[in-house]
Amino acid sequence: MREPPVMLDGRLLAKEIEADLTRRVARILEKTGEVPALATVLVGEDPASVTYVRMKGNACARIGMASRKVILPDSSTTEDVLAAIDELNRAPDVCGILLQHPVPPQVDEQRCFNAIARDKDVDGVNVESFGAMTMKLPAFGSATPMGIMEILARFDIPVAGREAVVIGRSPILGKPVAMLLLNADATVTICHSRTRDLPAVVRRADIVVAAVGKPLFVQPDWIKEGAVLIDAGYNPGNIGDIDLANAAPRSSAYTPVPGGVGPVTISMLMKQTVISAERRAGLA
Ligand code: NAP
Repeated sequence: MREPPVMLDGRLLAKEIEADLTRRVARILEKTGEVPALATVLVGEDPASVTYVRMKGNACARIGMASRKVILPDSSTTEDVLAAIDELNRAPDVCGILLQHPVPPQVDEQRCFNAIARDKDVDGVNVESFGAMTMKLPAFGSATPMGIMEILARFDIPVAGREAVVIGRSPILGKPVAMLLLNADATVTICHSRTRDLPAVVRRADIVVAAVGKPLFVQPDWIKEGAVLIDAGYNPGNIGDIDLANAAPRSSAYTPVPGGVGPVTISMLMKQTVISAERRAGLA
């Protein structure tokens, strides 16, 4: 008989990462006398985005780092957002900049992402960071994909040679996680809204990454027995993209929602900000 599925506990992993980061922030403070800061830029009042920004501020506080919040009105233009980013690029205390996705439709999100200085692009969203990450060159990676890879590594889930199916191709999640899985030698298929016979494609997967943004979208009968389920979805009511209550029993391991990918995403953002601060302090 097969072993029961393992729950990949993102909260536990995030705690371990944060304990390490707390020590590293203290070391930066000791050397420079300055507390490094992560800046978040929020455009509009999307309730989920407001919550994400608050969670990131809380995480900064837990590890002893400062956070700076820039809140811009929903009516902001691309130029308004670019001006805010430009100021943060020049601010000496700011070691990382995060533009909260999504921005209102009149704002050119990728242009704003590309304006973030590469050494402060701790969410790996600018096109240079993405290109470098894809080519396995030094770069900050997109936080959620980095968190997913951290979960797979920490729980000893083999990736090389396995079939990974990523559902979703957004620039912050689906596409970069597919590249990271490819760089880790998985055989990767990326699915999207135009994919034909999605259930048949997902049934091939040893590793399923759901990044769709539709509650309980992935059905239990799409899951191959023993597959690993990574649910990156975070829909209103703390509901993931996979019908985990019914799909997890078929899996060998799965990330819960909440408490799976979300907490590790935030700690990867913190980790990359600390690395940026260490570089500025001459400690890395
Ligand atoms: P997004 O930009 O809306 O992208 C959604 C993707 O899903 C698109 O590529 C879309 O395909 C695809 N899709 C939509 N309907 C589909 C269908 N019927 N069949 C197959 N694919 C379909 O979303 P996102 O920003 O990547 O976020 C995805 C989810 O992850 C959301 O629930 C979000 O809240 C969550 N998220 C979680 C974290 C975290 O830290 N846990 C971080 C970021 C996002 P097309 O490209 O063809 O439109």
